[in-house]
Amino acid sequence: MAEEPSAYGGPPTAATEARLRAALEELEASERRFRTLVQNVSDLIIVVGGDGRLQYASPSLERLLGWTPSERDRGLNGERIHPEDLRRLRSSFVHAKPPGPNTPVTTARTMHKDGKWRWLEFSVTDLRDDPSVRGYVVIARDVTERKDVEEQLVHQALHDALTGLPNRALFLDRLGLALSRLERRPGLAAVFFLDLDYFKVVNDSLGHSAGDQVLVAVAARLQSSLRDGDTAARLGGDEFAVLCDDLVDEGEALQIAERLGAAVSSHPVPLAGRELVVTVSIGVAFATRADQRPEALLRDADAAMYRAKERGRARYELFDNAMRDRAIARLETEATLRAALDDGQLSLAYQPEVALADGRLVGAEALLRWKGSQTADGHDGRPPSEFIAVAEETGLIVPIGEWALQEACGHLARWRERVPDRAPDRVSVNLSGRQLARSDLVSVVERALEASHLPPTALCMEVTESVLMDDIDLAVGALKSLKALGVEIAIDDFGTGYSSLAHLRRFPVDILKIDHSFVAGLGRNPEDAAIVRAVIALAETLDLTVVAEGVERTEQLEELRALGCERAQGNLFSSPLPEPEFAELLARA
Ligand code: C2E
Ligand code: MG
Ligand code: MG
Repeated sequence: MAEEPSAYGGPPTAATEARLRAALEELEASERRFRTLVQNVSDLIIVVGGDGRLQYASPSLERLLGWTPSERDRGLNGERIHPEDLRRLRSSFVHAKPPGPNTPVTTARTMHKDGKWRWLEFSVTDLRDDPSVRGYVVIARDVTERKDVEEQLVHQALHDALTGLPNRALFLDRLGLALSRLERRPGLAAVFFLDLDYFKVVNDSLGHSAGDQVLVAVAARLQSSLRDGDTAARLGGDEFAVLCDDLVDEGEALQIAERLGAAVSSHPVPLAGRELVVTVSIGVAFATRADQRPEALLRDADAAMYRAKERGRARYELFDNAMRDRAIARLETEATLRAALDDGQLSLAYQPEVALADGRLVGAEALLRWKGSQTADGHDGRPPSEFIAVAEETGLIVPIGEWALQEACGHLARWRERVPDRAPDRVSVNLSGRQLARSDLVSVVERALEASHLPPTALCMEVTESVLMDDIDLAVGALKSLKALGVEIAIDDFGTGYSSLAHLRRFPVDILKIDHSFVAGLGRNPEDAAIVRAVIALAETLDLTVVAEGVERTEQLEELRALGCERAQGNLFSSPLPEPEFAELLARA
């Protein structure tokens, strides 16, 4: 140390020498401290020279990546960085800055000595201008666990938990990608919308866990019948979707539809103690242009699937433009119908029911109307059969039906008050299958009666024969509880729903309304006369009242009288009238 020159060049004095010694000791101590720190931190510290060569790696290299510091050149080189992450890691060197706040971090998969990828988070600082380093200092730490959790969360957000298939969001994303590929390169992709047939029955009769088993089996079958690169997804419930890209032509898509259907149904699904054959209805829509929207394509395939259901299930149908128009019209009707209910645009028209013996007005059937530009027969632009079908499909018929019930009871109560001796004995209200299936049906009817202070005998509920035949046990139960309330029950459109005498006996009904299609031929077609005669005879046997619907001509009326029909309804007497006009008719009668 004695040779050491002083800071000023002259020979060191004793005091200077002591200060120097102290300073050097301090420096050594701090270097030792720093070295210990670097040696012991859990983060990996690497120094890379300006020439790109590795100069130093801290001992935690072994803990993080399995290599000892002496093996650092084997453990830390470009080949050990995942190819997808290499470019990003390199650019973090290019953009590295001298030390400062907010050093940017980059994650990259790095291969452990055991051959497995670990996620490391790197922060690179440029210390090439620092004479004590002359290189880059890289601090790396293991974030594999955090990445795994992140990946798991992303997976969960994009997959269906039960089947493990991609969910709707991921499916739409993949479909979007397939569409954008069409922009670069013309081609054909197909979307298949699959809905299991009678899945509700499986769930209801065998239980949800059996239902789940079926869904899992179907998912596996769909997936195994697809090529790599195709996507099978579960959209929810018993709905699945498949995306196939890069098809040669539409014919190939049809083969795939066949294959998917066969994969699901060709052998039964084993369930505890039984086997179940599952079939599926499939709708197919084609993507040919990049400007098609994923949601719209899925909706198109859904509309085609709907057609497959209508045509008998266990089959596939292709989407066409007419179907698109209908689907859009249905959606529009649903939206406007919902608004119509809220805005009070719905109303009831009343059609008299007449006793043929004396021409007395004995009843009135309430028929739903959508206000607006009314046509001559009391309909507006939207025929009831059409918007009522939409209301039934969407479930809107439940609130609408409840409203109709209250409205009709309210009207009858008013007529009774204003024209007590001419008001009809009862008002008839149509019930849809959806309402029949609800457990609150009886209380809804009770409430309507209470609110209007009507006795139950003043109300008749009409249910079509086909609704009754849809689920006989359910219908028998619902009708029995209505009957217990004391309301009358009519089977509407009788003759169109194939009920047998055995069924009829089980239903607690009071009235049969002969469908207008049989009434239409009266006076002209002897076959129709025979059917009407048979229905009247049947009604007599079961002690039921018969009402003929849709009577338009006097010759029909005469024949009905001759056959012994008790009551009739139809335009011959009066078309359905808006309430004010019907009230007037009562006052005039
Ligand atoms: P429905 O219950 O069988 O009603 C009789 C239908 O025959 C009515 O059709 C009526 O306007 C029509 N009609 C009446 N007289 C004649 C006639 O002389 N000739 C012909 N060809 N037809 C006649 P609308 O009003 O179009 O109703 C159609 C169906 O919609 C009804 O058939 C009923 O099933 C259903 N519906 C009507 N209102 C409601 C309701 O409030 N709730 C439910 N769930 N369904 C309703
Ligand atoms: Mg009716
Ligand atoms: Mg009818």
